[in-house]
Amino acid sequence: MARQTHLTPEFVELAPPQLKDGVLYVSMVHSCVIHRCCCGCGEKVVTPLSPGEWQLYFDGENVSLHPSIGNSRFRCRSHYWIRQGQVIWVKKLTPAETEAAWRHDRAARDAHFGARQGPQVEPPAPKSKRGFWQRLLGPSEES
Ligand SMILES: [Zn+2]
Repeated sequence: MARQTHLTPEFVELAPPQLKDGVLYVSMVHSCVIHRCCCGCGEKVVTPLSPGEWQLYFDGENVSLHPSIGNSRFRCRSHYWIRQGQVIWVKKLTPAETEAAWRHDRAARDAHFGARQGPQVEPPAPKSKRGFWQRLLGPSEES
């Protein structure tokens, strides 16, 4: 159960069924990054890449992800940044912070995708990538 301090990017089309510790699987095809929780708990962390979700920076050697990884829905409640391949640990989120982060993420997502509410007739929403990954990666992503 050792904490990871460094993640090595591996550019793949699809992440393998067995994820290795310390590897950040980057799928450009599916705009998604997958890694095992850096605390060593073995949970699979899926971060979709989009302007309203996570952004990936690749300097040719190492990757950074923005914003931080807050695994508030896992038992370990890990919270860390991935900066140029380094895992920078920050204190665990309190429930209030988790709530605030969730609201912030939600607001960013709404701003990006547009609010799909209101009485007017909307075209059906496109299938979300998250659903795709859930099907692909199995039921453990259900919260
Ligand atoms: Zn963990």
